[in-house]
Amino acid sequence: MPLKAYDLTGRTALVTGAASGIGRACALLLAEAGATVHCADLDESGLHETTALITKAGGTAHPHRLDVTDRTQLAAAVSAAGPRLDILAAIAGIMHRSTVLETRDEDLDRVLAVNFKGVLYACQEAARAMIATNTPGSIITMASGAVDAANAGLLCYSTAKAAVVQLTRTLATELGPHSIRVNAVAPGWIRTPMTDRHDAVLQHRAEAAVVRASPLGRVGEPEDIAHAVLHLASDASAFTTGQILHPNGGVAMPW
Ligand code: NAP
Repeated sequence: MPLKAYDLTGRTALVTGAASGIGRACALLLAEAGATVHCADLDESGLHETTALITKAGGTAHPHRLDVTDRTQLAAAVSAAGPRLDILAAIAGIMHRSTVLETRDEDLDRVLAVNFKGVLYACQEAARAMIATNTPGSIITMASGAVDAANAGLLCYSTAKAAVVQLTRTLATELGPHSIRVNAVAPGWIRTPMTDRHDAVLQHRAEAAVVRASPLGRVGEPEDIAHAVLHLASDASAFTTGQILHPNGGVAMPW
C-alpha cells in the first residue's frame, strides 16, 4: 500500500508514449500506485506488452493505439478513459539530429508535430475533460535537459522541448483556477530505446560524459523519471504547479 499522498487508488491516468522507455516505466508505476492507466502509443505490440506487464502485476490498464499528432484520436482516448480523467502524462516523443544548416522543413515540421503539437493536443483534450468534470487533475509534460544548453545537432528537438516548457508554464497559469496542476519533467540522459538508437560512438561518449559529470556517477534509468512523474501526479505535490523538475543526476547535458 503506497503512502497516502502517493496513493492513486480510484484515479484514472492517460499516459502517451506508454509502449516504451520512460512512458512504459511511468505507466507501470502509476498503476502500481493504484491508478487505472490508459496507455497510448503508435507502437501496438509495445503497448500490449506494457498493458500485459501492468495486468500481471495486479493493476488495471487499457491500450489505445494512436498517433499524438491526430487530435481526434487523442480526444477519443480521453473520452474512453471517462467518466473522469485525473492524470495526463504526455510523454510520447521522437529524437531528431541534424545541424541547423542541414535541417529540412519536413524535419522541423515532424519534430514539432510530435514533440510539441502532440503534447499540446493531449493537454487541451485532457484539460477540457478535467474542467467539464470538475476534476482537480494533474498534467505532466515531458521536456528535456536539452532546453538548458545549446547542443550541436539538436535544433529541432530542443526547440520543440523549449516550446513544451512554455506550454507547461502558460497552461499552469490558466488552469490553476480550476485546481488543475501542470508541471514538466526535464530528464537528463536516460537509457531507453530512444538513446539506444544513437550511433554507438555518440552513445558511448554521452554516457561517459554523464557518468564523469554527475555527482551520482551514473546515467538515468526510466524508473528515475517515473518516480518524478508519480510525485507530480500525486497529492504529494499538491502545491506544485508551473514547475520544471530536472531529474538529471545533478548534471545538465554535458556532452
Ligand atoms: P522511446 O523509448 O523512443 O519511447 C517513445 C515512445 O513514443 C515510443 O513508443 C514511440 O513509438 C512513441 N511515439 C513516437 N511518436 C509517436 C506518435 N506520433 N504518437 C504516439 N506515440 C508516439 O523514448 P524515451 O527515451 O522513453 O522518451 C520518452 C520521452 O522522454 C520523449 O518525449 C523524449 O523526448 C523524452 N526524453 C528522453 C530522454 C532520454 O534520455 N531518453 C531525455 C529527455 C527527454 P515508436 O517507437 O513507434 O516511435
